[in-house]
Amino acid sequence: MKALEERILAEGEVLPGGVLKVGSFLNQQIDIDFLMQMGKDIAQAFEDCGVTKVITVEASGIAFAVAAAYYLGVPVTFAKKNKTSNASPDVYSAYVDSFTHGKTYEIMLPKEYIKPGERVLIVDDFLACGNAIKGLCKIISDAGATAVGAAAAIEKGFQGGGDELRRDGLKIHSLAIVDSMDDGKIVFRNN
Ligand code: 5GP
Repeated sequence: MKALEERILAEGEVLPGGVLKVGSFLNQQIDIDFLMQMGKDIAQAFEDCGVTKVITVEASGIAFAVAAAYYLGVPVTFAKKNKTSNASPDVYSAYVDSFTHGKTYEIMLPKEYIKPGERVLIVDDFLACGNAIKGLCKIISDAGATAVGAAAAIEKGFQGGGDELRRDGLKIHSLAIVDSMDDGKIVFRNN
């Protein structure tokens, strides 16, 4: 999506450790018109996949997942990273390594929110090593549902997660693929 690439070049900040900050329009502050355009693009890419639900992980993926789910006309549910007092004890769970936070955390989704036979689209703001998507794939599989694919606003191609998932046969749709950020210079993959 050309408009996203231009926005990343104009507002993105390359942080140490291969982290891209897009807080001004996607993460901490959200440009809603732009978010909805991105969601529409994702919905079009998966319109023939019979999606019944969109799934993401809290917290930064939620807004983008809502936009995609809106255009697909399906509900969105998200896995939580922390056990809360009102959380259901009856959950599907997976362990996910986070390179941005440098730790492993457990993601949990109550069984009541994902049912056998559902056709689930995974949506997240970033795709880096692919660990969050792999964790969500495990939860979907444990529930007896099907992952129809995964969508990301920004894929960091140089971390390899997207290409590994593609090789494994999962349909991946990323709106912008950053192939390198060496010396702060952002280079996109031609796709
Ligand atoms: P993965 O599991 O694919 O390695 O990383 C995906 C998750 O890490 C996303 O949910 C996202 O929140 C976070 N993440 C990974 N890389 C970046 C980045 O460069 N910038 C931001 N803001 N988040 C990132």
